[in-house]
This record gives sequence, structure tokens and C-alpha cells, in this order.
Amino acid sequence: MELDEVTVKNNKRIVVKVGTSTLTHSTGNLNLRIMDKLAMVLSDIKNKGYDVVLVTSGSITAGVAKLGLKERPRVVKERQAAASVGQCELMFVYDKLFSQYGQKVSQILLTKYITDTGSTRTNIINTFETLLSYGVIPIVNENDTVAVDELVYGDNDTLSAITATLVNADILILLTDIDGFYDGNPSEKADAKLIPVIEEITEEIENAAGKAGSIVGTGGMHTKVAAAKIAGGKGIDMVITNGQKLDLLYDILEGKQVGTLFKGKKATNS
Ligand code: ADP
Repeated sequence: MELDEVTVKNNKRIVVKVGTSTLTHSTGNLNLRIMDKLAMVLSDIKNKGYDVVLVTSGSITAGVAKLGLKERPRVVKERQAAASVGQCELMFVYDKLFSQYGQKVSQILLTKYITDTGSTRTNIINTFETLLSYGVIPIVNENDTVAVDELVYGDNDTLSAITATLVNADILILLTDIDGFYDGNPSEKADAKLIPVIEEITEEIENAAGKAGSIVGTGGMHTKVAAAKIAGGKGIDMVITNGQKLDLLYDILEGKQVGTLFKGKKATNS
């Protein structure tokens, strides 16, 4: 199905967010096959002339696995230590994989405080613009090692929406472990149906988003709807799609209907 008015066509700047449930196996170890495919597809999209920003989760989970901890620590300083180890691991793997496909990547660690504060916000915007002008693919994560709030409420869906607004993206794509947004949580509602396009975030949509996500994921659909509000408020379209089917990214950029499109409001970006 082609969208009648293709709002996702001709996008030039894309922000892609990949969730922990996509990046890691149920063991907590990195899913290298997915990471490799992601690096390849994003590199190829970059080669097509797009500016690409990747928002990645997974630092705590990767750190827990690398340290050989039996479970995700409950004590903040231990989670932050795990994040410190895992972030390093994540960037090492991304750098290696993207380099393999001829791309330059960089690391940007953000906190809510930084993005909410005028002067640091301006610096970040300038840094993003400079990196993109150098042809770099910035890889963004929350600074989990210092951001206590983010560890408690941690969700990169919101962070990716903020990132999309900072770089004035044309589209935000959230990669997750399910095909899109359903009219109820499919793990609880057997007959849940995928909603292809959401023009307005109604109470029904909010209710369908529910609260909880997978064990390794953090936000579920609740935070993805929150992200759609932030991005949409700035006129940025957002698509939720399955991170196991990365070729769909090409279809999205060609304006084909994939997953769930949350249409951005026709407001001016600021
Ligand atoms: P990620 O790590 O990619 O952010 P999450 O595990 O946090 O992923 O969120 C995806 C999960 O959200 C799905 O696997 C599903 O169990 C859950 N979910 C809750 N409500 C819905 C819904 N309305 N539509 C689709 N998935 C839903």
C-alpha cells in the first residue's frame, strides 16, 4: 500500500533509534548479526545521500553481560558502572562495523539536563551540524553513567525524539522487536491489530500503549507514543518498525507504508 499523500518521501535527514530488545539476545549479549546488518543498511542509506543519526540503547545490558553479572544490578552505582563498560563495548562494535562499510562514526552522550539547558543545547546542535557536515554518523545514547534520572526512568525513545528535534530531522524511525503499534499489547491481546497510520494521538492510542515493555526493553509503547508527541509537535513524522527486518528502512524512505507512521503536525520546525 502506498500512502495517499506521501509525507515520508524525500527525507534527507533521518534519526534511527534501536532498542535494547533488538540489539541484544535474551542472554543479554550483543546481537552481532543485527548490529552488522544495521551498520550495513545505515551506511548504505548514508551513501545514498542521507544524513543519518543513530540513537542506541543497550549500554547497561551489554555491560552486565560483559562483566558476567548474574542479573541487572538494582543499585544505581552498579548499574552506572555496567553502563560505563557496556557503552565502551557498544561503541567499539559500532565503530568496527561502520568502519567496515566505509563510514565514520562518533559518540554523543546526552542527558536531559544538557538538552534542556539553553547554552549546552546550542552547543550540541552546533556539534551535530558540524559532525553531519563532516559526513559522520553520530551515535547517541543517554549518558547512563552520570544520569541518575535516566537510569531510573531510562528511555531512549524520548531521547531519540529530542535528538530528532535538535537536528531538525525529516523523519524519526524507531526500531523495535515488533512490527509496529497495535490497538492493544499483542502479548496480552491475541487479536490485536497493527495500526498503519496514526494522525492524532487520542486517548484510545494512549490506552493501547499500556505501560510495560519486554524484560530487556525499558519503555514499551508508552514511551514511543511520548516520543511521537515530541517529534510530531515539531512536524517530524515517526515510524515504528521491526528491527529484525532492516530492509524495510529503504521502503520507509521511499514513502511506502511500513509499520506504524505517526504523522507529524504540519507545524514549522524550530
Ligand atoms: P525497545 O527495547 O525496542 O524499546 P520495548 O520492549 O521497550 O522495545 O517495547 C516493545 C514492546 O512493547 C513490544 O514487544 C510489546 O510487548 C509491547 N507493547 C505494549 N503495547 C503495545 C502495542 N499497543 N503495540 C505493540 N507493542 C506493544
